[in-house]
Amino acid sequence: MSDRNSAELVIIGGGVIGTSIAYYSAQAGIDVLLLEQGEFGAATTAQTARAFRTYFPRKPYDSELARRSLAEYRAFSAETGVDLGLADLGLLTIATSPQQAAELETDLPFHRAAGAELEQLTPAQAVERNPWLDADTVTAAFWNPHTYRVKPEAIVQGYVDGARKHGARVVGGVTVTGVDAETGVVGTTIGEFTGRTVAIAAGPASGAVGKLAGMDLPVWGQFAELLFTDPQVSDGDLHHLPFTFHPVSGLKTMGMGGQFLVGLERISKQEGMRDIWFQAAVEELPKWYPQLQNVRLRSAWTGTLDVTATKSAVIGRGEDGFERILFAAGFCGHGLAQAPLAGQIVRDLHLGKDPEIDLTPYSLATHRARLEA
Ligand SMILES: Cc1cc2nc3c(=O)[nH]c(=O)nc-3n(C[C@H](O)[C@H](O)[C@H](O)COP(=O)(O)OP(=O)(O)OC[C@H]3O[C@@H](n4cnc5c(N)ncnc54)[C@H](O)[C@@H]3O)c2cc1C
Repeated sequence: MSDRNSAELVIIGGGVIGTSIAYYSAQAGIDVLLLEQGEFGAATTAQTARAFRTYFPRKPYDSELARRSLAEYRAFSAETGVDLGLADLGLLTIATSPQQAAELETDLPFHRAAGAELEQLTPAQAVERNPWLDADTVTAAFWNPHTYRVKPEAIVQGYVDGARKHGARVVGGVTVTGVDAETGVVGTTIGEFTGRTVAIAAGPASGAVGKLAGMDLPVWGQFAELLFTDPQVSDGDLHHLPFTFHPVSGLKTMGMGGQFLVGLERISKQEGMRDIWFQAAVEELPKWYPQLQNVRLRSAWTGTLDVTATKSAVIGRGEDGFERILFAAGFCGHGLAQAPLAGQIVRDLHLGKDPEIDLTPYSLATHRARLEA
């Protein structure tokens, strides 16, 4: 297709996922048109804690997507010269009861088979990695060195520039207002475009964009907030501390300047989550950080998390009349960790190629089954 109002692949959304799809698809010779309502990477992608991790407890398939994405980020950097800001951070996952430790241990072999590097630590070794922890409250810990700080804006700009270099039309300031799943006609604020395939990568708005096409895409936006403690060091910073995560409570911390950045990984449609989260973080934090017993927490920034019922993304092709529609959305707080592979999977699905990854955990059927359970 060569006319200006049509493209082989029309992508809706220019965050880290949509721009990754655009880059890998254009690189493969696909005629791409990407439509973004605002500025590239300025929505959920700009709200992240800027962390990239390759271990997702209980989800070896997410670890695999992230581990393969890391290799792709490195290849992208090497090919294009773009500095993605990858800087060592490390992930310390802690268990605070023998049962939690046993559960995490059970799936270690699956994560290792998926390529995640994991070392089991004693409480004393965990405290060596993060001296603010209380060894008495930690039962076991798991160390993943392949967790990094990244620069989302550099990733997005790199993908936009790379996609354009390979001939993609990447257009900001255009809102998609309608999608005809049968014909591939995409209505926008500047007119209509037709795609042989239409890819939805609209982040938390993907459910709403799916609805424009009459499709039930089980992704929604959830309010999310990150918190700062008061500054804890007067000299230097806490950047050397690893990303520290307690999967059961969902509490996660990392150093940012002289303060801790604190988040709570919980997914719920419950009303009033902001106050519930804040209170939960206040109660949880001193359980493992005794020195933070009376510390004040304040809002660092808020955002909209891209969530699904399975807490993993939904990636694939529509069925039953929606075959023209591809989707990659609902990365549930780890879009940076999975963007390269998500882009390659959508490219392959568009080309009718096997993406060589088991998409079952990301399928509509899996997500719908979870919602019905
Ligand atoms: C507080 C917070 C902290 C986070 N921390 C991390 C982290 O440390 N590491 C990590 O990996 N992930 C993190 N995440 C999650 C991460 O931000 C997301 O998984 C990721 O950004 C999703 O990228 P996306 O491209 O799907 O969505 P987005 O970045 O939201 O991009 C979607 C785009 O679609 C556009 N769009 C929507 N509707 C339309 C329309 N109708 N027409 C045209 N364009 C449209 C939007 O403008 C937007 O730019 C965090 C999220 C939050 C909220």
